[in-house]
Amino acid sequence: MKRPTVILEACADYDTERIHQLVLAALVRLDLRPHGRTLVKPNCVMSGEQFPNAFTRPEFLSGVLRALNDRAVDDIEEIALGERCGITIPTRHAFKEAGYYPMLKEVGVKAYHFDETPQVEIPMYHQTRLRDAMFFPEPIAKADFFVNCPKFKAHPWTTVTFSMKNYIGIQDDRHRLIDHDHRLDEKIADLQYAIQPQFIAIDAIIAGEGRMLTPLPFDLGMVIMGDNQVAFDAVCCHIIGLDPRTVPHIMLAHQRGFGPIDLDQIDIVGGVTLEEAKEKAAGFQVGLIRVEDYFKGTPITAYAGPPPDGQVDYCWGGCPGAMEEAIELLRIFVPDADEQMPKTHVVFGNYDGPIEAAPGETVVFIGDCAQWKGTIHGDQVSIDSLYEDRSTKDPRTAKHDDIFAKMAKVMVKTAGKRGGVVRVAGCPVSVAEQLLTLVSVGKLPNPYFDPSQAIPFTSAYLSWRTRNLLNRMKGQPYQKSGPTERGASRPEQNLPPEGMPTPLETT
Ligand code: SF4
Repeated sequence: MKRPTVILEACADYDTERIHQLVLAALVRLDLRPHGRTLVKPNCVMSGEQFPNAFTRPEFLSGVLRALNDRAVDDIEEIALGERCGITIPTRHAFKEAGYYPMLKEVGVKAYHFDETPQVEIPMYHQTRLRDAMFFPEPIAKADFFVNCPKFKAHPWTTVTFSMKNYIGIQDDRHRLIDHDHRLDEKIADLQYAIQPQFIAIDAIIAGEGRMLTPLPFDLGMVIMGDNQVAFDAVCCHIIGLDPRTVPHIMLAHQRGFGPIDLDQIDIVGGVTLEEAKEKAAGFQVGLIRVEDYFKGTPITAYAGPPPDGQVDYCWGGCPGAMEEAIELLRIFVPDADEQMPKTHVVFGNYDGPIEAAPGETVVFIGDCAQWKGTIHGDQVSIDSLYEDRSTKDPRTAKHDDIFAKMAKVMVKTAGKRGGVVRVAGCPVSVAEQLLTLVSVGKLPNPYFDPSQAIPFTSAYLSWRTRNLLNRMKGQPYQKSGPTERGASRPEQNLPPEGMPTPLETT
């Protein structure tokens, strides 16, 4: 493997021309030329003026795209930008709120909304895989030159979201949520086998501290670039004083041969030294906090027991972290949510301690693996686990719940249960469903109907439904199984072992 390079540069603000020149110089230094189908993946999990620090800013992407255009080979097929945003929002809505469309028009770059493209099956061959195949948007499978453009952020489930974690947005919802549980870090490591970036440029100008959807601004003033994802994430960890060996998805990808994490195996260059970068990042807070501690001092009391499998004592990748993000989102739209929220108890996993719910206080058991026996409000309550082993989940038949279906489901589950016991099933129960559960139990305003969101959201939703319907009428299937045409960004690690036929490629 070529010795990886990570380039650290200072960039005080979102000056597109400065970003353009920094990225252009990095592409020259790394001897990289975009070619074939070039695809850029931002982090646009949430966007808009309420979430200014959650997404890769358009000024940043504009600089990157201009530099890619400058360095592209003459016969390049296309330069495009693609993403699947978060919490069941149509990607069209997130792109609009992020201000991506005028920027893309200006630089002449096409957008792929991964919730509207065909999803193709990519086989996995490595021994430690969670499943034999995963689905990805077709532009991901076919990319020849892949550029990862994440946002430098903390994450409540995986400690950080740098380059590798940005891959959660290369799957559409129905596939994204599979294995998004206590084995999330393994899932992220498995996603690496679908595609590897030739170039990475992270928006670390104003970084996101503490949370993932609603991070606090942290003035880091940097653009960081590189050509190997593991090395890149390892250096970003060092910048915030974190040992990359303690971040499981980075460690797993390293162990599986995707790149080094030891600094003496990485060339760190650019106008900012690693020590200077560390000084800039001094005090940066990551968001890893157990749900019981997170809700201390609020009207919500949380209880968490271990998830299934007996391997870990807490589900870092699933329901508890989603509840933390749900209340943070709610606070954005309902600033006095904590004052309005009645006393509520939320229970995760196989919890075997007491639940001290006074009469009139709602107890919500969240997730398929929630189980508990005891007395609530004087009644004997027995909650059994509904968890089914992951081997029973087939990505080929996974179903998508759109946001209005989720709203209806939560309303039915919680109707008339305020002050009683509620069970919300799912593995995981998504941020959107948990937010809607809090809205219903607390009788709070629904953020999806917030005046600032309702019209553009509904318009993007209808547009997304219409596009998918038109695609189907044109004969374009949502999912394609079987052998898939692959671009040059396919990693070596994903090649089938010699002489070993695979189920997919023999069908
Ligand atoms: S139900 Fe939720 S808490 Fe339980 S394993 Fe699944 S994601 Fe984790």
